[in-house]
Amino acid sequence: MSKVLTSGHPVSVADVPQWDIVTDVAIIGFGAAGSCAAIEARNAGSSVDIFEVASAPGGSASWSGGEVYVGGSGGTTIQRKHGFEDSTEDLQRYLMMSGGPAADQDRVTLYANNASAHFDWLGAQGVPFKGTYLPGKWIEPTTDDTLIWSGNEKAWPFSAQAKPAPRGHTVEFTGWGGGKLFMEKLCDQALQVGATAHYDARALCLITDHDGAVQGVVVRIAGQPVYVQARQGVILCAGGFIGNRDMVKRYAPEALKCEQLVTGGNDDGSGIRMGISVGATTLNMHEFFATLPFFPPASLVKGIFVNERGQRFINEDSYHGRVAHYVLRQPNGRAWLLVDNDIFARPVIQPNITIAAVGETWEEIEEELQLEPGSLVATVNEFNRHAAEGQDPYLHKSDEWLRPLLSPPFAALSYCSGDFDGHAFTLGGLATLPTGEVLNADGQAIQGLYAAGRTACGLPRWGEGYSSGMSLGDSTFFGRQAGLSVAANIARD
Ligand SMILES: Cc1cc2nc3c(=O)[nH]c(=O)nc-3n(C[C@H](O)[C@H](O)[C@H](O)COP(=O)(O)OP(=O)(O)OC[C@H]3O[C@@H](n4cnc5c(N)ncnc54)[C@H](O)[C@@H]3O)c2cc1C
Repeated sequence: MSKVLTSGHPVSVADVPQWDIVTDVAIIGFGAAGSCAAIEARNAGSSVDIFEVASAPGGSASWSGGEVYVGGSGGTTIQRKHGFEDSTEDLQRYLMMSGGPAADQDRVTLYANNASAHFDWLGAQGVPFKGTYLPGKWIEPTTDDTLIWSGNEKAWPFSAQAKPAPRGHTVEFTGWGGGKLFMEKLCDQALQVGATAHYDARALCLITDHDGAVQGVVVRIAGQPVYVQARQGVILCAGGFIGNRDMVKRYAPEALKCEQLVTGGNDDGSGIRMGISVGATTLNMHEFFATLPFFPPASLVKGIFVNERGQRFINEDSYHGRVAHYVLRQPNGRAWLLVDNDIFARPVIQPNITIAAVGETWEEIEEELQLEPGSLVATVNEFNRHAAEGQDPYLHKSDEWLRPLLSPPFAALSYCSGDFDGHAFTLGGLATLPTGEVLNADGQAIQGLYAAGRTACGLPRWGEGYSSGMSLGDSTFFGRQAGLSVAANIARD
């Protein structure tokens, strides 16, 4: 009886009937990390075969905004052009804070030192950037502009530790979803430098030898198992696991509070499971990016979030993903954005948001929300008193967004669980070195196995610290590192 091939169990090299494909580097997944790994490995002289389960390249990166988080070295060409100086030290401090308690100093240092040059590299692969600056607060530009404030740079506590600079660099594309163009260029380049792509090709499981070294991968093509020998190594670039409900339930159950799981690709965790099957360890599997697009319009940032105790809990000028995490963990999943008539608008991304209360006074709002009498009113009065002086002593919202909420009618937009379209994707993955080498539980590299992008636990690894552009920045940059490292291996027979 033939064995069922699953990502949870490697095949022994002794059980390989024949090598159907022999290559130097086998890359699983033709998305952000996979395309960049392929370009570098191929340019270094290795033969490269990419196996992609979908019928076309691009992965979830092609559904993205096409924005990368880069800076440092005094500023990218675009930052400098618009007068923003951005030191490597400031970028490094910001990235360390963004990585949260488990931030990886080595990875951050490598990225901060090279992010500006990486931006130039993306341009050299054909990814177009117009070079313009778009001021304001955006989730993603729908114009074709390049440079935006895309994270927590100007918000406390980040602003207190690292000099703020805008670092979101977006592909030249008008409308939502510039990732399509971004990925078209990178995938075209990978093919142009000579990588071979196999579509409708699902990697099923890894192939290991008696020492536990990864020698290849079994791929299903046209319904048949195809045995692929990878003489220099296998790079897992198969995305995260947001598309696998069972894995999300097991590892990151909080993410299920977001109604919309952000995928668009085949992020079913198969890359992570293949790594685990050969002894890899994982990191931060509970962490996820979440968003709650309560703005644009930016006027809504001047509102205040309160929970069912009538208390504020976050400086609302923080990145929307950080706000989302704070909202998600409020008691009983209940939170509202309070606004007055001057700033009221329906959020562009969710115009059908539930308006939970409307009133001529804050007492009416409090009553309608059935909160403890005096709780919300005391919070609003305290906020208004300080805001009138341009201060927010408890939560440090910057004065750019501070104004008292005084113009009736007042309203409470509901961000209670079930009332908003939260979006999420996972940040946990295989433990790797910055070179992409996958680590086992003893912290040793598993021979022949590499990972990058959301299959690995990379630069973005803490939902509260994520900034737009970090995932693509990480996937493309560390995909390149993995491609370079694997190509430096001596090819095995
Ligand atoms: C709507 C949206 C907007 C976003 N906007 C941004 C943004 O502007 N900036 C940013 O930094 N991030 C953004 N992200 C997140 C970012 O796009 C992803 O986190 C990023 O693409 C991860 O890159 P990756 O290479 O790890 O995965 P992907 O680009 O998803 O590539 C993984 C590939 O592996 C393939 N695959 C999976 N399993 C297998 C298997 N077993 N065999 C063969 N192939 C397999 C998949 O089909 C896929 O093509 C956004 C995401 C979405 C969905």
